[in-house]
Amino acid sequence: MFNWNIAGHENIKKFLENSVIREKIANAYLFYGPEKVGKKDMARQFAKSLFCVNKDRPCEECLNCKQIEANIYPDFFRVARMEEKGNIVIEQVRELREKFYRTSFLSGYKAGIIEEAEFLTDSAWNSFLKILEEPPSMTVIIIIANKIAPIPATIISRCQRIKFSLVPEDEITEHLCERGIERLSARRIARIAGGKIGLAREFANSRELFDKYNEKILTFLRFFEKDMLLKEKNDVIAAISKEREQASESFDIIASLLRDFLLVKTNPDLVVNLAHKEKMIDIGKRFESRKISQMLENCVKFKSYLDSNVNRKLLLENMALEME
Ligand SMILES: [Zn+2]
Repeated sequence: MFNWNIAGHENIKKFLENSVIREKIANAYLFYGPEKVGKKDMARQFAKSLFCVNKDRPCEECLNCKQIEANIYPDFFRVARMEEKGNIVIEQVRELREKFYRTSFLSGYKAGIIEEAEFLTDSAWNSFLKILEEPPSMTVIIIIANKIAPIPATIISRCQRIKFSLVPEDEITEHLCERGIERLSARRIARIAGGKIGLAREFANSRELFDKYNEKILTFLRFFEKDMLLKEKNDVIAAISKEREQASESFDIIASLLRDFLLVKTNPDLVVNLAHKEKMIDIGKRFESRKISQMLENCVKFKSYLDSNVNRKLLLENMALEME
């Protein structure tokens, strides 16, 4: 009856499918968890399942499914940042509110998705709260956020919370194979993607992106080596600190390397960056577990500072110092 093309998150899928079957849909859901693990896909499949006219939902072929995919279905609304660095502003939420309180075009559900909800301004949240306080009947809103911390408590308490985790590597591999990727490549991609199905798909679609990411891993591995020159480090840092996303991704890569250094000591089979296992073992040996844990702790801490407008270059320089 259901046909959700999503890798991993079996429990979440079942839970949402059941709520569609029983027509027990909450007024608001909060999907949160690491970026690129499939929250947006899940939200869309869920929305399509509410509107799809066929038995195997979503069929992806009926007009409703297609219109939702293209964000033009009259009872489906997507709210997202207008530009990469912007916020989601009160005007956008007001527009959503108006649409929600209007009668449905097709006298059924109305659904809204708010992407990257951590970027709602305070006034936008206040306006949004009014929808949740008096939700019109047969409406459902899915709030999507990587982190729950920036979401106001008054909002969280009114949502059905659904936490997403990283997707197991095997499930990503299978998913890629089903999409026609050859098994060996699928496995390599799944390994490098480190549980992020969205990233795995991006890699599967672009060899160039995959190679670039792999190169970044190698670059950060270099930071742990004794012979890397300060100038070389500074050049890398200057380049990645230009953009927040780049800096954030760099901290993720460093964290995944550090976790692997710990694993090569205890459980080498679980190493994520397997493509560079030999090097990992060499470098891992040089540091004590305690030191690695401390680096990891700082890495996570520095990454969290990115959200509070601390100088990115300074954070990365501090991290580089830790990695010696
Ligand atoms: Zn359909």
